[in-house]
Amino acid sequence: MKRRIVCFCEHGFDADIPDSINLAEDPEAEQAILSGEFLSIRCPNCGKVLKPEFPVLIEDPQAENSIFLVPELDRAAFFRGSLAYSLREANRVAIGYEELVEKFLLKQYDLDDRVIEVVKYYLLSKVMEEEGDKEVRILFSRTEGESALFNVLGLKENEVGILKVPLQTVHKVASQLEEKKHEPPFSDILKAPYVSINNLLMEGPD
Ligand SMILES: [Zn+2]
Repeated sequence: MKRRIVCFCEHGFDADIPDSINLAEDPEAEQAILSGEFLSIRCPNCGKVLKPEFPVLIEDPQAENSIFLVPELDRAAFFRGSLAYSLREANRVAIGYEELVEKFLLKQYDLDDRVIEVVKYYLLSKVMEEEGDKEVRILFSRTEGESALFNVLGLKENEVGILKVPLQTVHKVASQLEEKKHEPPFSDILKAPYVSINNLLMEGPD
């Protein structure tokens, strides 16, 4: 699909950006997502590499999953239910590139995104207790030894904090998931296709 892109150098050009990809046919796309090269385009005028976000459906038949990337700029429209395009029955929605990367990181580490979002809720509650009402974002990073590591953004300016959670805790949450998914606030967090702790932050009228 042709998309109009305007570079920082003010040069406008059309780029061919797919509105869906299938990882069975295009297995390299998964690595491109993880490395941050997915959807990146070089400006033909100044050579700068741009990372525009466009809505795209990523089908992953092997994992029996499909993820729809909603551009970060459309976050408010998503919560208002006023997106100008359809989510095309995706199993999952990721809003913004970072959330898309996180979904594929979880796949790589064989972790359930529902469990991780519940774990994030506990982390966020703890951060809020200690730091007050700050606008923080928590994203899964990796596992190391017997711990899951999370990046925390927004605690200090230009600094990424790291929180560690024992994998044992992650497994415990996994075993409680069936009960939890019916009780608030977890029922809101686990509302597919947007399974995310951010459902709590965006509740109510804006
Ligand atoms: Zn340019």
